[in-house]
Amino acid sequence: MLKLKDEGFILMNSKIKNIAIIAHVDHGKTTLIDSLLKQSGEVKEYQEMNVRAMDSNDIERERGITILAKCTSIHWDGYKINIVDTPGHADFGGEVERILSMVDGAIILVDAAEGPLPQTKFVLTKALALNLKPIVVINKVDRADARVSEVLDEIYELFLTLNATDEQLNFKVLYASGRNGWSTTDLNNPTNNLNSLFETVLEEIPDSKSNIEEPFKMLNVILEVDPFLGVLLTGKVESGVLKPNMSVKVLDLNGNLVENGRITKVLTFEGLNRVAVDEVKAGDIAILAGLKKATVTHTVCDPVISEPIKSTPVDPPTMSINLYVNDSPFAGQDGKKCTSRMIGDRLEKEAEKNIALKVKNKGEYFEVSGRGELHLGILIETMRREGFEMGISKPNVILKRSESNKILEPFEEVLVDCDDPYSGVVIEKMTKRKAAMQEMFQTGMGKTRIIFKAPTRGLIGYHSEFLTDTRGTGIMNRSFLCYDDYAGELPGRTNGVLISNDVGQSTAYSLFNLEDRGEMLISPGEQVYRGMIVGEHSKENDLEVNVVKGKALTNMRASGKDDAVKCKPCRLLTIESAITYIESDELLEITPNHIRLRKKYLDPNERKKHSRQNNDMVFG
Ligand code: GDP
Repeated sequence: MLKLKDEGFILMNSKIKNIAIIAHVDHGKTTLIDSLLKQSGEVKEYQEMNVRAMDSNDIERERGITILAKCTSIHWDGYKINIVDTPGHADFGGEVERILSMVDGAIILVDAAEGPLPQTKFVLTKALALNLKPIVVINKVDRADARVSEVLDEIYELFLTLNATDEQLNFKVLYASGRNGWSTTDLNNPTNNLNSLFETVLEEIPDSKSNIEEPFKMLNVILEVDPFLGVLLTGKVESGVLKPNMSVKVLDLNGNLVENGRITKVLTFEGLNRVAVDEVKAGDIAILAGLKKATVTHTVCDPVISEPIKSTPVDPPTMSINLYVNDSPFAGQDGKKCTSRMIGDRLEKEAEKNIALKVKNKGEYFEVSGRGELHLGILIETMRREGFEMGISKPNVILKRSESNKILEPFEEVLVDCDDPYSGVVIEKMTKRKAAMQEMFQTGMGKTRIIFKAPTRGLIGYHSEFLTDTRGTGIMNRSFLCYDDYAGELPGRTNGVLISNDVGQSTAYSLFNLEDRGEMLISPGEQVYRGMIVGEHSKENDLEVNVVKGKALTNMRASGKDDAVKCKPCRLLTIESAITYIESDELLEITPNHIRLRKKYLDPNERKKHSRQNNDMVFG
């Protein structure tokens, strides 16, 4: 180890490189990291583990995002290289910045056929803004449909639109086939190993800065809960050395004392594992256990330190939903976890590790607050897959009051990229949703970028409309901006709904006969109950209809060809589209296998008594 004596303090060459990996889902990140691990000589461990390095859970994969950041550590030529995975969605904006604060460079991994894709753009924007050193890896060059030089052009184009500095534009490019375990700096010169990638990382990425002689200091970046060790906090050791049994204090972002505590366990990343160690030195990424109140954005440090490490605050929850026990007539037919107790325990457990999530037990329901439709939608989807049933209310944004008692609501910065011809419709729709355009310019290749400041409330349910309006070519990134003056009334859903007034199985005959009344949300043969929403009325008011009456499907066929009925396909609902569709007097019934819309009050008389109230404001 190199020691430099420089005016009183000792700088150590840490021989540690911390690097983020930015890749769209399926571009081969997991496979590449597996290959890197194998070639770094950690094969044995790899085989024993028999798991893939950065494998994500099902929901992350389906949605093309990474929610939890993980770290893999690889040794090469005397160096420890920590490769940190990055979350891929803007609902997790603050988290991206904190995670990137641990690293000094980024591998941008791009599929040689698909080229750079939108979801990674947000993270790349942050990485470039933090002045991280980029290395571009064009992966899967073995693909028959690889279009390497075009993809490289697209990457340059992307860097330019993201205001990369000249130095960043001068990035090193590697061509790789992660699956076949090789990389090269020159496509005419294929190799049979990943040495060029390792070497480029060592040459290009600065060593992790470390100052071992100073007192211990670390910023908490990731929080997890382990059944045996309790709360685990991950961060980069900024200075000093972290050891088990050490006494530490915890400071919040403003330097206030959160707690004094003792470290019970210190771990570090090795390969795919986390291993307990006697110490972690400055520059390396550590995981510590033993603290009770400390959370993400807090600084854990030696008691002599009084200045916290600067960090991006956790984005505040801006949206809430109410979660009810499922009381529909079909409750308990599908899921195994239906009681208030089970739901409450599950939510409490979630709130311990999901730092942007807040749960309040309101007696009749649980109020769950989070960072937007995606954040809450993922929780609901996860619970559903675990066997839960529940009723879910329309989402509300969380309001605040200013000192002068004015109502404030959350605003977001919305960054839109779309083909030039669609910019008009985007501006029109966004303006209706009370967004203010901040900036608009052409980014070349027929694309326009528009930046809006928009109330979160106005954005609910807009994303799918946006994709339709831009023929699927538009990209939208959202991040929390501020609380500001309430933007006023917004138009709600303009159509009423069709409500079932009977119990039973829906028939093709009755659905067919209702087609001129509106668009159906169910298909023939589905079980329905009284008060369940079966379609969207073409008029403003709600209408009760009978969808179970009529000739049964089998009779109909027997009665001759003139009666043969062909229903239009019904509109398909996803959790996110359904959640943004319902009004305040309606609920979404979620079970492991069904998504149903219903009136909160199933009985028509009850419904009239509690007729729609629209002033359901939630204050944080
Ligand atoms: P991740 O989602 O980025 O972690 O991607 P994976 O590593 O899971 O890979 C996604 C898919 O791409 C899998 O079917 C891999 O077998 C395939 N794949 C990964 N690397 C390569 C490669 O170098 N060449 C080709 N042709 N396919 C690859």
